[in-house]
Amino acid sequence: MSYHIKARKAKKLNTKFIFVSGGVISSVGKGVTTASLAALLESRGYSVAPVKCDMYLNVDAGTIRPQEHGEVFVTKDGVETDQDLGNYERFINADLSSSNYITNGQVYQTIIQKERNFEYDGEDVEIVPHVPEEIIRRLEKAAVERRADFVIAEIGGTVGEYQNVLYMEANRIMKYRDNRDVIHVHVGYLPTPPSVGEMKSKPVQTSVRILNGSGIQPDFLICRAEKPIDDRRKETLAWVTSVPVQNIIAAPNVDSIYRVPMNFEQQHLTDKILEKFGMKSRKNDFQEWKNLIGRISRITESKKVVDIAVVGKYYETGAYKLADVYISVVEAIKHGSWANNVKANLHWISSIDVEKHGAKKVLEKFDGIVVPGGFGSRGTEGMISTIQYARENNVPYLGLCYGMQMATIEFARNVAGLKLANTTEVDDDTPHPVIHIMPDQEKKLLNREYGATMRLGGWDCVITRGTITEKCYLDSKIIGKTGKAKINERHRHRYEFNNEYREKLEAGGLVISGTTPDGKLVEIVELKNHPFFVGSQFHPEFQSRPLSPHPLFAGFVKAVVKLKK
Ligand code: GLN
Repeated sequence: MSYHIKARKAKKLNTKFIFVSGGVISSVGKGVTTASLAALLESRGYSVAPVKCDMYLNVDAGTIRPQEHGEVFVTKDGVETDQDLGNYERFINADLSSSNYITNGQVYQTIIQKERNFEYDGEDVEIVPHVPEEIIRRLEKAAVERRADFVIAEIGGTVGEYQNVLYMEANRIMKYRDNRDVIHVHVGYLPTPPSVGEMKSKPVQTSVRILNGSGIQPDFLICRAEKPIDDRRKETLAWVTSVPVQNIIAAPNVDSIYRVPMNFEQQHLTDKILEKFGMKSRKNDFQEWKNLIGRISRITESKKVVDIAVVGKYYETGAYKLADVYISVVEAIKHGSWANNVKANLHWISSIDVEKHGAKKVLEKFDGIVVPGGFGSRGTEGMISTIQYARENNVPYLGLCYGMQMATIEFARNVAGLKLANTTEVDDDTPHPVIHIMPDQEKKLLNREYGATMRLGGWDCVITRGTITEKCYLDSKIIGKTGKAKINERHRHRYEFNNEYREKLEAGGLVISGTTPDGKLVEIVELKNHPFFVGSQFHPEFQSRPLSPHPLFAGFVKAVVKLKK
């Protein structure tokens, strides 16, 4: 479809565009703000396409180091995106796609290719307007794809950075050149320095000024702070930034991000946005969210807790530990625990520490263990001893991708007697490559074709009847008792279970509880005679949502709770 047809379609849809920027600091909550706005508008019966606009020149997030980038969230159509897409999906309870994710890399790649194809008809191809126009084209494509009443474009980074100005320019052009329905929401941080003891609005004043320098006047200010912003500061911000005082919204810290939409709703943000666009208010349907929040409060009060260790790598960044790398895992464990009416205390354990101090010493006090995804050899021996500890001591275990591969290696070594078993990712010369690379993947690596070439996105899987895995999916009503037990889960990996070892490991007691429909790829392994021991080659965490917890996480926490009693 050509650009013009798409643009016309989006106009026909009469889509409204909301840009969200951040100021003062990164991680200010733009992603959760965007996700919350999307949830609120959907609760009024509108369809929303949230879009993350990232600044880097990488075409996708797949080639960025996790310490640098945080989690790589994989969409159903197999795109390696930013973790914010995960929040969007969790808040609107829907699958998003490649259209919901833009990077400068994609934008420039398209423009340069179009130039090479002579699609600019001999025109001088310029940064402005051609880059913003390509951004606008992509936002419109997102609108068409979801038949969206609203596109919410979250601009990565903070105002004042060189790298995101062309997204600001897209916003400005849409509004003032193309006369589209566009508003701008700015999320800023108001610090309360302990030495002063007073909330400071100056940083937000400054960030709005910088935004004004890009030709943008924000319509709403979201004030992130430890506490709700008071009237005095609201009034100051209003006259300094020219944002009407009623459009200055408090966004104090909350114990759960899922409270944010309700907090906005209480300040009538949705109505104010609809009014800004000249739209009539509609009744909202927020009952499910209210129930969820009520449940979280009850669980917090009841003080029923389980302690879960997440044993992975990539945690350290300088003097700090970073849990953002596993944000979907964190959320999925929470969803699973709320489904079981307990609170999960998560403990970040570096697998290197397990190597240094031994599994028993490090892991003794935990009720359940998760080994999440990962790449490369560092820390893998620590993961393997972690899994051995869970297997031998009946501690519920859930392995996610690398956690499934490591569980297979552990079983091969310590149960099936294949002492030097390994994955070829770690040891090319292992005599027992129980996890190996498939020939087509190997070819890609030899040609240095790294970008977007892993096994990615949603794949069908057929579950073996009579397994723990089957029970989990049955309990969640995702499969029925009869017929084919088919599920679809998201992948991101290059290596696979080696079928040459299938018989030997099964004979030793390893249960293969899921394969691709053709039976060729092993997707899930588990153990008999263990309270809960399941490893999946896919990443179940990407499909877990607060209103529909993932079956494997719900089942895992259920086993943890049962054992704790
Ligand atoms: N490193 C493993 C592979 O590429 C596992 C990847 C993951 O955990 N996402 O197969």
